Amino acid sequence: MSSWHNWARTEQVTPARIERPTTPDEVVDAIARARTDGLAVKPIGAGHSFTGIAVAPGVQLDLTGLAGVTTVDATTGLVTLAAGTRLHAASALLHEHGLAFENLGDIDVQSISGAVSTGTHGTGRAFGGLATQLRAVTLATADGRLLRISPTENAELWPAARLGLGALGVLVDLTVQTVPTFVLAADEHPEPLDAVLDDWPHRSAQADHVEFYWFPHTRLALTRNNTRLPADAPRTPSGPVKRWFDDELLGNGLYEVLCRLGSALPGTVPGINRLASRVAFTRQAADYSHRIFATERKVRFRELEYSVPLDAVGPVLRELDRVIEANGWRVTFPVEVRATAPDDVWLSTAYGRASSYIAVHRYIRDDHTPYLAAAEAILRAHDGRPHWGKLHSRAADDLRPAYPRFDDFLAVRDRLDPDRVFTNPYLERVLGP
Ligand SMILES: Cc1cc2nc3c(=O)[nH]c(=O)nc-3n(C[C@H](O)[C@H](O)[C@H](O)COP(=O)(O)OP(=O)(O)OC[C@H]3O[C@@H](n4cnc5c(N)ncnc54)[C@H](O)[C@@H]3O)c2cc1C
Repeated sequence: MSSWHNWARTEQVTPARIERPTTPDEVVDAIARARTDGLAVKPIGAGHSFTGIAVAPGVQLDLTGLAGVTTVDATTGLVTLAAGTRLHAASALLHEHGLAFENLGDIDVQSISGAVSTGTHGTGRAFGGLATQLRAVTLATADGRLLRISPTENAELWPAARLGLGALGVLVDLTVQTVPTFVLAADEHPEPLDAVLDDWPHRSAQADHVEFYWFPHTRLALTRNNTRLPADAPRTPSGPVKRWFDDELLGNGLYEVLCRLGSALPGTVPGINRLASRVAFTRQAADYSHRIFATERKVRFRELEYSVPLDAVGPVLRELDRVIEANGWRVTFPVEVRATAPDDVWLSTAYGRASSYIAVHRYIRDDHTPYLAAAEAILRAHDGRPHWGKLHSRAADDLRPAYPRFDDFLAVRDRLDPDRVFTNPYLERVLGP
């Protein structure tokens, strides 16, 4: 049996069996066979979760062959995607129809199902995470049905099923509300950190998609503002668009070399970060949205990300700065800050509140545990909710107070999966047995 590991190399498992269904009926059959054999079932996407959420000790369902666009309505923008479709493939197919995802995160190699199931989000005060773009799903259930769930079909399951952590069944297709193709104009420039922190609740709404990166040991924020423009707006004329931060720093072999150097000689890190910040410069670019939202991350890292109330960003980052310096930690990877609209998805990190997201990273060769634990303690103290796909230490009993509809989600889980066909150790921790 071949073993599986995730992108960040934090989890690995050798499944008892791997199945590769290519149709919804084959998914139903695979679930039935697993139940006959007394094995749990877990679909995987691209393995880009840092947590053990996709670990499948029983039957691993590889949905690579259940991919592509099932239906497109270019008038309404409603598009149905097979569950294993990767976001980058979906974006390319949508573009052919003059359509696009309303918003995306930093990368697009994930499967649509994996991304929505963990609450994947981008940035934008007027925009929610990927799960808010869903209009219906089809779920293969533990008892062998293909259940259509939407605001009008099995509606009582809808607020749970659109962000289900893979705990409710296997998604076989997802209907997404897309928007007409649009251009994003990106503006990146460095600014003094304190000015950005003091102004964050206001400035996060000053462009359509605002974010910034802070390199520990420096006082500089690298800000990025993306503005939505019509599809026929001018695009950067020559070649693929290069952004300073993603393409020329994080996507660059030189950064790997610098991170290795920092790992071997921690005393060099503040100098490396100051250098990285100093060479940052103002950059403007424009292209179709999917080419601006998502980039490639070549240098591997470990990550923890929490959502907090909008006004918590300044206090959290100042406290994090103090803790990093007090402990003498030397951190190469930057802290990323984003913001989204509130939503009504029960297990969404943005449930019921406009949210800022604070993500801390450590290079894969560095010990991430003390830094991430310290960051988590600060974020928890600010009413934080952890990203389901990124490292955290929370368990069901202390997640319940953070999510007003937590017990409603558990009731849906009990109804759809009373025998825990879709559980794994991570889900037992965060949802209970
Ligand atoms: C480099 C990098 C950058 C990232 N950037 C961002 C970002 O900008 N924003 C953000 O929010 N997150 C980000 N993430 C986190 C990532 O988006 C999530 O962890 C996402 O879940 C990964 O998708 P995947 O396809 O790899 O899913 P996997 O990790 O393979 O699976 C995740 C979960 O989805 C479930 N699942 C998969 N398919 C199905 C299905 N058909 N039915 C039911 N459940 C299913 C799995 O069982 C598992 O529970 C990033 C991660 C990495 C490594």
